[in-house]
Amino acid sequence: MAPVSPTGRRALRKADLRESNQRLILNLIRQTPNLSRADLAQMTGLPASSITFIVKRLLREGWLVESRNGSSQPGRPPIGLRLRRDASHVVGVEISLSRTRVVAADVFGRILRQRLVAWHPDPHVFLVRLRSAIAAMVDKYARDGLLGVGVAIPGTIVRASGHVVAAENLGWFDLPVGAMLSEGVPARFFFENNAKLAAFAEQWFSQPGRQPPQNFVFVTAHGGIGTGVVVDGRLLQGSHDLGAEFGHTILFPDGIPCPCGNRGCWEQYASDRALMRLYAEREPQAGPVAAGEIVARARAGDPAAAEALAEVALYVGLGFVNLKQAFSPEAIILGDYLASAWDLIGEAVWRVLRERIAPRYLSHFRILAAQHADEAPLMGALGLVLAQFFTPLETARVAAAPAAGGA
Ligand SMILES: [Zn+2]
Repeated sequence: MAPVSPTGRRALRKADLRESNQRLILNLIRQTPNLSRADLAQMTGLPASSITFIVKRLLREGWLVESRNGSSQPGRPPIGLRLRRDASHVVGVEISLSRTRVVAADVFGRILRQRLVAWHPDPHVFLVRLRSAIAAMVDKYARDGLLGVGVAIPGTIVRASGHVVAAENLGWFDLPVGAMLSEGVPARFFFENNAKLAAFAEQWFSQPGRQPPQNFVFVTAHGGIGTGVVVDGRLLQGSHDLGAEFGHTILFPDGIPCPCGNRGCWEQYASDRALMRLYAEREPQAGPVAAGEIVARARAGDPAAAEALAEVALYVGLGFVNLKQAFSPEAIILGDYLASAWDLIGEAVWRVLRERIAPRYLSHFRILAAQHADEAPLMGALGLVLAQFFTPLETARVAAAPAAGGA
């Protein structure tokens, strides 16, 4: 191991602290625009001189703008600080069988440009196609400052490399997706599972007063069932990032075969595809009917659609009982057809929960629709990149006090 001089060590720590304090301030301004310097000093506990120093640098580097409508205080109106919309940009990618997208967004996650990429069953053809769309987007925004590329993948992945262990619904197994997408593209890449990103989007892009609870589970039901589990405010990853695959927990030991290789997985009974199967069993002559259309038919009075939804609601409810028992979330947050059909299935799902869980355990439990609806995984991919630059380093709060004057 190379020796480190005491001076070098101290310089490193100081730089980390400075970086961390800067991120802390940037993130506070991102979350609450028009904070004054005095507000920041109060919120962070940092001395006014440090705040002045950091803000001056952020203004110089083009991250912030000043405005005259800061929070009201007696005397001289304070100057509010806002994050500059065009301070930098992010590229987000959502890989999906039905709609793969590459977008560019500003630092608030507002989408500026979007490109759809057509699916191809050969992953090599598809990934080359996707890489060229990403490269074009990176090229367009590189000059204006680009923080990186966030990629949402519907499967089990190694986060650091973007290697897909298994994306059953895409038919991808043991595929170096990260390496294939980033080859020759001059940007930093970040990868994560789509359901985990949907949960992260709830946290990162929450409106003031609409922050998700510290313990919740996001359930996506698009092409299968994905779950993003947040425990004590943190995304559950598990060893080798393989945790929180609740869609593949077993509901029936001899149940329907699942592409994961097992039988009777929850997603075979509660996903959008399960709804399609249950409808097709009742209306075999109808051909494949998409989940959204089945929901519309149920609303229009189609009894087969209503029956299929009622059956799915039972399995959704059983899965929610298991989630509740495993993680004790304050809320389950729904995406996809589960959210759009909630007025039709909600009562039946709640009935299952009440039948199987004592009332004292349900008094504070809620089921909510996602804030970002179908955009959740993509928003999470944008947030994933932003978080690398806005989240204070782990030690920030602990170390904030000794930063006096040194920031
Ligand atoms: Zn399975």
